[in-house]
Amino acid sequence: MEIFKTIDALRSHLESFRKADKSIGFVPTMGALHEGHLTLIREARSENDLVVCSIFVNPVQFNNASDLANYPRTIEADTQMLVQENCDVLFLPSEKEMYPEPVNEQYDFGDLDKVMEGAHRPGHFNGVAIVVKKLFEIVEPVRAYFGLKDYQQMVIVHKLTKDYNLPVEIIPCSIVREENGLAMSSRNERLSPADRNQAAVIYQTLKMVKIKSGFASISEVKSYVIKQFRKQKNMQLEYFEIVDMYTLQPLKTWAQSTTVIACIAVWLGEVRLIDNIILFS
Ligand code: AMP
Repeated sequence: MEIFKTIDALRSHLESFRKADKSIGFVPTMGALHEGHLTLIREARSENDLVVCSIFVNPVQFNNASDLANYPRTIEADTQMLVQENCDVLFLPSEKEMYPEPVNEQYDFGDLDKVMEGAHRPGHFNGVAIVVKKLFEIVEPVRAYFGLKDYQQMVIVHKLTKDYNLPVEIIPCSIVREENGLAMSSRNERLSPADRNQAAVIYQTLKMVKIKSGFASISEVKSYVIKQFRKQKNMQLEYFEIVDMYTLQPLKTWAQSTTVIACIAVWLGEVRLIDNIILFS
């Protein structure tokens, strides 16, 4: 695996592959890699001639300074995992390389970022769009792989590619979970073993939501979820929304949409965890 730290070096390396009409599959990450990331790499490996992974903890998408400061950084282990997965190229830029000047681009996602993560993390998706657009322009991939775990992010990145005619196909990848159902996340590294056990309640609740969606109303389902988390010590429900999968707008009745996803964000101590489950598609 080749490692590049500068945009110029990466670009000139990739140019020969592009000229030879080789397809580039791209997996952007913030590192502290786990099986969730690795399934994206595997999917990219199976569909492209060349696989490029980036690791960059993007400061402009963090709306919380302590989250940024505490974000796990495990670059040596990450590199080994990528080598094992036959990743061809790792792009590892510094902050200065990505942002030599302060950035103040503003993106408009319509109503897509007015709810859920967008509503609770002001500026987050603008920061995601800044880095993703820049990375797409540097790597020029044919396909880019995103996890359904960050469902709202995937919808917003898809809109970004449409709005700016970026010639890249966004490939959604399934959520990878721990044995107890907890969605894998780099932030899980900050959880104690007891926390990890407790966090299983998130997916257990979502699975129950799916069952209840067959017979209970949306407001009954929401009350059920609120009650489940009231019972949990050291755990705070930030939001639980049942939304249309494309518009991301919250639904009041099941009849309002045939493509429905339930999304949740929970604080467990100092760690914020998100998850979702598709109810109808
Ligand atoms: P991150 O490093 O958290 O920015 O994530 C990089 C990519 O990996 C994003 O597209 C995430 O949605 C995806 N990802 C993170 N965790 C998981 C998971 N548990 N299952 C599938 N994809 C994931």
